[in-house]
Amino acid sequence: MSAIYILIGASFIVALGFLGAFLWAVKSNQYEDDWKHQKKLDDQPWNKEKIFKKTSKHILFFVISFAISHTFLAYIIGSDELLKIQFDNPSNHVAGLSAMLIFTTVFYLVFSRFREQVCIAVCPYGRLQGVLLDRNSVVVTYDYKGGEKRGKWQGKREVREEVGKGDCIDCHQCVDVCPTGIDIRNGTQLECINCTACIDACNTVMEKTGLEPGLMRYDSEEGIANGVGFKFTARIKAYIGVLTILVVVVLGLLLSRSDVETSILRTPGIMYQTREDGRISNLYNVKVINKTTTEFPVELRLKESNGEIQMVGEGLTFNDGVAQGAMFILLEKENLSGVKTNVEIEVVSNGEVIEVVKTNFMGPTK
Ligand code: SF4
Ligand code: SF4
Repeated sequence: MSAIYILIGASFIVALGFLGAFLWAVKSNQYEDDWKHQKKLDDQPWNKEKIFKKTSKHILFFVISFAISHTFLAYIIGSDELLKIQFDNPSNHVAGLSAMLIFTTVFYLVFSRFREQVCIAVCPYGRLQGVLLDRNSVVVTYDYKGGEKRGKWQGKREVREEVGKGDCIDCHQCVDVCPTGIDIRNGTQLECINCTACIDACNTVMEKTGLEPGLMRYDSEEGIANGVGFKFTARIKAYIGVLTILVVVVLGLLLSRSDVETSILRTPGIMYQTREDGRISNLYNVKVINKTTTEFPVELRLKESNGEIQMVGEGLTFNDGVAQGAMFILLEKENLSGVKTNVEIEVVSNGEVIEVVKTNFMGPTK
């Protein structure tokens, strides 16, 4: 437990350190800023400023990747196992440490190299978006009715109307700022990640040219083409219905989740046996997984009281959240339904039944 406190304390100090460094960088303008500044920095020769900005950025990317890979690994193998990897002898956890290194490298490369390529080629969001959209979907969009015919014009606003130009002056700002490099004026595209950078850029241009902002905005195709406002469509109602059902199912599964998961399987290769008192017995392997963080005693009992359970050895004790053992089930011959009889076994903790497991009992033909 103390290791967890050390870890939390260390994470807190590191997070504070990063917050301080971030505030200092913003205050003293020691960061790369938007794409224009980044391009300028890339083009300039290596000097003190470039070395500092590039090095600090990549260190930051690596530390964030390192933290994310730990969180990701904790999700897969559990925090206890992760703490063991962190504090135990590294030679005992070569596989775990390799996984950490691989995940860290992948996240670092995503941040530092692949960036928008991940949005375009890997992330499924864009693909899903195309399936879910219709003419009433509100997305980042270009008002082609107000913007076309695009092109540059000079002079007063009336001049623009005289030469038949729309609000779009074809300045390309919306394309230049787009992190995925698309021209949203050509219509909704799966590469769009709805970051709204094009909206901000276009509004700035509109402000400078004295035109109304909103040429690039959140709106639907129906809104642009026919001026129809937001409608609560059948599709939206259907999505809400499906989402509600999914949430109810997830909540139901969470609330009905038992504290343990038990498997009781007949030991392979062992037939039924006839005991001296005439009862029939079957041997089983038992595995109980504790899904909680607390330890508690468990015992097994037959749901129907026409038989007996005999544990082999000392019974079930949790070790690292798993209790394993073997047991015999003994039934009277006359209570068997044939070669195969279904039996139900209750998993009991502190007098309370926490799970009921079904298994088969083999016996002689009647
Ligand atoms: S930023 Fe606005 S005005 Fe400039 S090209 Fe894009 S849509 Fe047209
Ligand atoms: S919202 Fe972002 S990703 Fe989409 S077109 Fe505009 S700038 Fe590009």
